[in-house]
Amino acid sequence: MALFENSSYFAYHPKYYTPTTDSHCTLNISPVLRYPYPMEIRNRYAPSPTGLQHIGGVRTALFNYLFAKSQGGSFILRIEDTDQTRSEPVFIQNLFDTFQWLGFHWDEGPDVGGSYAPYIQSERVVLYQKAAQELLDKDKAYHCFCSTGRLENLRKERESAHSSETGYDRFCRNISKDIAGSRVKNGEAYVIRLKIPLGQSTHFHDHLLGDIQWKNEDVNPDPVLLKSDGFPTYHLANVVDDHLMGVTHVLRAQEWLPSAPLHTIIYESFGWEPPKFCHLPMVMGNDGKKLSKRHGATSIDEFRRQGYLPEALLNYIALLGASYEEGRDVYTLEELAALFNIDKLNKAPAVFDYKKLDWFNGLYIRAKSNEELSELALPYCKGLIKENTALFIDAMALIRERVSLLSEIPSKIAYLFEDPPLPEPSEFFPRKASLAKTVELLELGRSLISIVCKKSDEEAEASFKEESAKAAASVGVKLGDLMMPLRVAITGARVSPPLLGSLRLLGEEKALARVKKCLSLLKAALCK
Ligand code: GLU
Repeated sequence: MALFENSSYFAYHPKYYTPTTDSHCTLNISPVLRYPYPMEIRNRYAPSPTGLQHIGGVRTALFNYLFAKSQGGSFILRIEDTDQTRSEPVFIQNLFDTFQWLGFHWDEGPDVGGSYAPYIQSERVVLYQKAAQELLDKDKAYHCFCSTGRLENLRKERESAHSSETGYDRFCRNISKDIAGSRVKNGEAYVIRLKIPLGQSTHFHDHLLGDIQWKNEDVNPDPVLLKSDGFPTYHLANVVDDHLMGVTHVLRAQEWLPSAPLHTIIYESFGWEPPKFCHLPMVMGNDGKKLSKRHGATSIDEFRRQGYLPEALLNYIALLGASYEEGRDVYTLEELAALFNIDKLNKAPAVFDYKKLDWFNGLYIRAKSNEELSELALPYCKGLIKENTALFIDAMALIRERVSLLSEIPSKIAYLFEDPPLPEPSEFFPRKASLAKTVELLELGRSLISIVCKKSDEEAEASFKEESAKAAASVGVKLGDLMMPLRVAITGARVSPPLLGSLRLLGEEKALARVKKCLSLLKAALCK
């Protein structure tokens, strides 16, 4: 804190060039055009640590990151923890874990530092107190001594009178500075409120939504800037930090749009140039309602647990409301950073399509080598195996085309590691076959096992095809019908990864033992 006490914190601002006073300069350019002038794109993700990181927040962070990177700018992480009652360290930890896992990072932030540290608002309180004092001095803010009891009564009175008025009634706005000063000296509790200029409108430009104008009377009436405990509200801290940190662009969720007129008024009250605003369209579920738990997973933790890959999730999130190249969906983070164009953002809300995300995930899973996939799958398969083995790695080849989530892997490969529970006899029946025919087909199937388990991969494939076709023809059934009892005996299910690969991974001995057990079961059923 002491760091800031004596610093003239408004003196240096990275957003501005010093205007040239070069007397040799003959061009008569109005200083307004050259100064202030943005030196570089600087943007930020400014989460409040009051919950887990979710799709919407990560989309905001990602778009800021991509925009900064596409422009050679800087992306900042700032933790907005001024609401001390709701902020929790576990959510800060979750923030770091999430982005570590996702694999993109900020250029400046609480963990990496930067020229504008600290990047956690609770460590910057003195700055906000100074800023509030500056507004008091400029007569743009005032002390308010209203008790919570008075404000509560006001709310109740309005409610019973069915009044449409909300917010503060500006009761203390006209208390003279002298009187307010002596009340403060006498130790009366107070907050500092913004003096919203009345009888005028506030204008700002949103990159997506265009020019926006709000009547000041429609802005939250004289909101609190500094609370009675000396902590700032979100509005004050957010504006002060964006200014001090040289933020040039604010890309944030559209739910913050109603705060933008208020923020603009705060910037104007200080005499600062506001950053450029771009409020991003909401992310919706397929029913057109804001994405929430009702639609499925929303926290990144949950997606991670379910076995989504960070690259797939990032790729999909990057498409939520932005376009890159015509007809192309799959991009690496580097490609996205090169192609991101703030002019290609959509105004319409983005719909989060879980099926499409699954498709992306399957795609990224299939792009992994068996070794890579086994490493990723291992934490999901702890019930089956303790450590990575050759069998586990080879098993990936059998299922890579058949899963879209890592969490689907253990149930798909369990039969390779432990005997599946014995299925009901009827499970073994191919179409229309009787129990007796099923026994005959399984016996025939058993004769193929030694053929495929003793040969090299290519030979096995060729002879399996040939021998199984011959066997099917010999008993007048289709190939699939011949294989069904064998498939069920080996994998425990009618739908399974490829049978040939399964037999080879399992090995002759185990495969024969499983068939033997199943044959006894079926024969016992036959005798009943
Ligand atoms: N702290 C706000 C949030 O939690 C930041 C809003 C903004 O980006 O200005 O989303």
